[in-house]
Amino acid sequence: LLRVEGLWKLYHGNPVLRGIDLDVNAHEVVCLIGASGSGKSTLLRCVNLLETADDGAIFLEGEEITDVRADPDRVRRGIGMVFQAYNLFPHMTVLENVTLAPVRVHGRPRAEAAELGRELLARFGLLDKAGEYPDRLSGGQQQRVAIVRALAVRPRLMLLDEVTSALDPELVLEVLGVIRELKESGMTMILATHEMGFARDIADTVCFLDGGVLLEKGTPEQIFTDPREPRTREFLRRVL
Ligand code: ATP
Ligand code: MG
Repeated sequence: LLRVEGLWKLYHGNPVLRGIDLDVNAHEVVCLIGASGSGKSTLLRCVNLLETADDGAIFLEGEEITDVRADPDRVRRGIGMVFQAYNLFPHMTVLENVTLAPVRVHGRPRAEAAELGRELLARFGLLDKAGEYPDRLSGGQQQRVAIVRALAVRPRLMLLDEVTSALDPELVLEVLGVIRELKESGMTMILATHEMGFARDIADTVCFLDGGVLLEKGTPEQIFTDPREPRTREFLRRVL
């Protein structure tokens, strides 16, 4: 579904991604782990074309999205992205937040968008909040709404960047439950996470980033119990 080839990203001449190669199959869940500053968010932002690559290429369903002729808005419409700070629009209700992009960006009829929105809210236990404003919701509920909002455009790929790190531990569980349900529904996802237990539990593939290099990639079993690279071992010893 997604192929990243030799991706380089520099900020002010400093390489932040150094030749990343990554393949993601349909229905696969990939977790990016690594120290703060290792390039996880930058990689997700490059895939979503929020950053321009300095070298290399990214293909989504065979189309080179890093091609200068590709339309970033169209590419982004097929990708759902959720950030650590959920960025809901405070002056809109939950349902308005969820239907905004389908109506404004995708030109769906309002009634159809509202119906899908309600369906998704129901699926994630949020239907009774449809008419609330975000500041009346808990952090976990807001993050679940942010995930529903990203799903409302029926993305082919979901990118989730530290979606639990702003939450209290008990709220983390609700959000992880939503992500688990998404996996069961067959959604292809790339997640950057500091939650090693969760990565181990949900990932098909774990990628360890170290200083902008994808140093090691494997099944959770392999990465967490038998990492090949000394730097992976050292990182895991620090965080586990
Ligand atoms: P964290 O775990 O803290 O979220 P990360 O792995 O997501 O870290 P990135 O946010 O991708 O790391 O950052 C990688 C490097 O790029 C860091 O050294 C960071 O300072 C730098 N960087 C990120 N965004 C910018 C920017 N807009 N301008 C300059 N440097 C940046
Ligand atoms: Mg980050």
